Amino acid sequence: MNHEVDTPFIDERKIEEALTNKPAPSSSQVREIFAKAIELKGINANEVAILSQLCDRELISELFNTAKRVKTEIYGPRLVLFAPLYISNLCGNECTYCAFRASNRELMRRALTQEEIAAEVRVLINQGHKRVLLVAGESSPSEGFEYVLKAVKTIYEVKSNRGEIRRINVNVAPLSIEKFRELKAVNIGTYQVFQETYHRKTYSQVHTAGKKRDYDWRLFAMDRAMQAGINDVGIGPLLGLYDWRFEVLAMLQHIAHLEERFGVGPHTISVPRLEPAVGSEIAAKPPYALSDLDFCKLVAILRIAVPYTGIIMSTRESPEIRRTTFALGVSQISAGSRTNPAGYSEQRQEQAAQFQLGDHRSMAEVIQDVTKMGFTPSFCTACYRLGRTGRDFMDMAKPGEIKNHCDPNALSTYLEYLLDYGDTVMQNEGEKHIAASLERMDAQQRAISTRLLEAVRSGKRDEFV
Ligand code: SAM
Ligand code: SF4
Repeated sequence: MNHEVDTPFIDERKIEEALTNKPAPSSSQVREIFAKAIELKGINANEVAILSQLCDRELISELFNTAKRVKTEIYGPRLVLFAPLYISNLCGNECTYCAFRASNRELMRRALTQEEIAAEVRVLINQGHKRVLLVAGESSPSEGFEYVLKAVKTIYEVKSNRGEIRRINVNVAPLSIEKFRELKAVNIGTYQVFQETYHRKTYSQVHTAGKKRDYDWRLFAMDRAMQAGINDVGIGPLLGLYDWRFEVLAMLQHIAHLEERFGVGPHTISVPRLEPAVGSEIAAKPPYALSDLDFCKLVAILRIAVPYTGIIMSTRESPEIRRTTFALGVSQISAGSRTNPAGYSEQRQEQAAQFQLGDHRSMAEVIQDVTKMGFTPSFCTACYRLGRTGRDFMDMAKPGEIKNHCDPNALSTYLEYLLDYGDTVMQNEGEKHIAASLERMDAQQRAISTRLLEAVRSGKRDEFV
């Protein structure tokens, strides 16, 4: 595709119009939107604009309850876990909010060798991880993009005791269609890239040099990825750069564009909030900082606006905020994260991290916490390995069929984790959780689950439906 001939699909005027000069909606109008949301068909942009401006405490609490119902109905109690894996912090761009920006002299630069990447992966596998999100700055060592491709192969090749990484999602700068094809050929899961801000003027203010200055090259990244056959893509705004209400409506325009052009929207949405980063003024004091309440509203609104798209919550957020948003609609979480290359395998840490974390707990602590809250930690990677990606995934998800896969797979991969990595306390708590989950399932799901769980108990691994 020649991206220059594509017309950008973000209509700023329409968004501003939806957000300004509107009389406050009546509570009955708002409740009509909630009633529509519960039907799981999503809500339109005007309805999203109305919800994004809610101030009334009672209606906000009804919004949260609606999001909880949608989340429970579609996703049940499972939460998929992953870890970010930073392979390099070399970067040629000047994103004013990021510690990796080219001019930052306070940062220790490092691109891991393939051996160092393997060492990181071994640590993650031995914590029980099965999914990683490979992350890198927009510059590679001398071998160029080949470096990223080799890294993906290295990660899949590492085996440690009984474990391995089964799905690698990738967050690297936008590529050409040819390079996306190469990425697809090494079997990545989701390709993820954030527009940061959909607001063109703000975008040009915060990206002052490098390839990333080109707003449209980034905006059409997902089009090129899909044209190259990568069906699962992940999008998101970097929250705090501009008005979150604008970003949500613009992101919905992005989703509508992908649905129209490719018949399927993004697989996941991430909701990163700006965190302090070495030497960055804007990250220390975001111009449009979101309050915790607005952040929760945003998650709840996304959950009901695009009910079948996964929402990812990273360890940028504190344990408290993470706990609150799990119930509101989050379906994937990172745990035990480090944002510097070699952050998992090396004790001595240089000043090399991308931003500060809000949740410093280990993977095991997060797992115990989410289990106590009634969620099932899931390490499932079945869909993409069975080719249930893109439109095929959505076609199964929409009639609710996916539940017969996700819930049993969540329980069997959780049991794998308990048996291979858990201590006795975790195993006892986990077994109780599994027994209670089986009780709640319908007969068909319970039969599938029981079969998978028995296979895992008998020593089999990587069992899924
Ligand atoms: N370099 C590639 C790019 O910019 O797309 C991919 C990796 S970049 C390290 C991943 C994401 O980190 C960025 O898209 C941005 O949203 C996020 N990020 C950068 N600085 C951040 C900060 N201070 N707080 C939170 N997230 C940040
Ligand atoms: Fe580089 Fe990405 Fe950080 Fe921008 S956000 S400075 S492109 S690593």
